[in-house]
Amino acid sequence: MQQSLIKKNISIIVIDSSEVSRTIISRILKAEMAHTRIITCGNGEEALAHLSLEHYDLITTSLMLPDMDGLDLARNARQSESHRYTPIVVVSGDADNRLLREGFEAGVTDYFDKSQGYNKFVDFIKSITRRTAGLVGRVLYIEDSKTAAMVTRHIMEKHGLKITHTTNAEHALELLENGAKQSPDGDSGFDIIITDFYLKGRMTGGDLLHAVRTRLHYSHQEMPVLVVTVSDSPEKQAEVFHAGANDFVSKPIIEEILLARIYSLLLIKQQFNALRRQAEEMRLIAATDSLTGVKSKRYLLDNGEKFVNDENNLPVAVFLIDIDHFKAINDNMGHITGDHVLAGLGQLLNESFSDDSVIVRFGGEEFAIILPNVSIETAKMKAEAIRRKIERLNPVNVPITISLGVASSIDHPAINLNNLLKLADKALYAAKDAGRNCICIHSASCIETMVMPDMDSGIFNFLNQKDAQ
Ligand code: GH3
Ligand code: MG
Ligand code: MG
Ligand code: MG
Repeated sequence: MQQSLIKKNISIIVIDSSEVSRTIISRILKAEMAHTRIITCGNGEEALAHLSLEHYDLITTSLMLPDMDGLDLARNARQSESHRYTPIVVVSGDADNRLLREGFEAGVTDYFDKSQGYNKFVDFIKSITRRTAGLVGRVLYIEDSKTAAMVTRHIMEKHGLKITHTTNAEHALELLENGAKQSPDGDSGFDIIITDFYLKGRMTGGDLLHAVRTRLHYSHQEMPVLVVTVSDSPEKQAEVFHAGANDFVSKPIIEEILLARIYSLLLIKQQFNALRRQAEEMRLIAATDSLTGVKSKRYLLDNGEKFVNDENNLPVAVFLIDIDHFKAINDNMGHITGDHVLAGLGQLLNESFSDDSVIVRFGGEEFAIILPNVSIETAKMKAEAIRRKIERLNPVNVPITISLGVASSIDHPAINLNNLLKLADKALYAAKDAGRNCICIHSASCIETMVMPDMDSGIFNFLNQKDAQ
């Protein structure tokens, strides 16, 4: 998905008779606006020569040049095809009366009072280029009239837009659907749609709009649509908006009006993309537990059920792990050491299970693990392997042990995640009762203690030894 809908690589021509001004302005502009090409000229003749050779996205000129009047330069630039719509900024000592009187007639877009200083000038230039620089956007354009399509397409391409043109609504829908299918994030490949309202095929522009909104479920923000109409009668306008358009332009197309409309629709789309990215980041943040790096309980609540009710009906096992006597670690070594222990255990769990397992911080010092497609024997083997690994882990030099409860959907068919977790919790309590540092499994009818506790391991033994020293 693209980051910005506004063209980044822009070129600016700065015309100023003072060499000092030219140097300062171009230095600040270069520092503040990456990807900007800056050409400087000291007089009008030189400037017009540059302007006749290539297109610039912005022209700034002093009101008085050694060989020419700034307003005459503006008039001259406006007459050329390639700078007819280029913003022209006149820089003058103060808000000159003549500038106010004649400037706009001469084609000046705005003026800047030089006494505000160079930094303000650069801010001013930045805001103008943001408003008026060429556009970047992918347009799906539907127009059945060859001549209208040719003219409009030319205008849009000239301003940097990428156009996919088709003459009928059916084909446009196909392009949208295929684009979304092929992209991993469902991006259709288009930022906005521009469609003629009257189309010769079976579907009109109105039908296309209706399909975009109701069948493809694109909101006005996700896929802005601009409708081109012949008539702009109030009835027609109402019909266009009713059909789901964001906006309309009437034929014959006026270049500046079309561009202004496209610009505002691309902004809507850009904001939609930014919000979607933010929501995705928030979702990722909410899905991960920041201390331990495993998945959060929120993630388990949102996604856990689908692992248990897997469409192929494969068995899942659930582990509930609780650190033994964790309170003693906090009490004797401090809460921060306790946090390091939790982080170390989280890392070990993340490294010890394959990617299809889900590891969750279930509570303070409790972790849940969902293992898809494992037999009871494999589940038991994995439980014992992780118990031993944790016994040897020694995070921040603190020996820890865990108690572990296991439940499997093989023993309890048609069970949901919540109930499977409840059974694993019962097994976990049985493991605590049995003396800790051991594993219990909730089988079909009873709780069996799988691994007998090893009383010599764990935090109390460690603390006792420390006390004895
Ligand atoms: P048991 O063997 O019966 O599980 O004993 P325990 O001490 O581990 O059990 P208990 O549930 O009484 O204590 C859990 C402790 O975990 C209490 C709580 O202060 C601590 N805890 C919970 N979350 C955090 C955390 O994020 N950081 C730290 N350092 N401690 C936490
Ligand atoms: Mg038509
Ligand atoms: Mg606990
Ligand atoms: Mg505990």
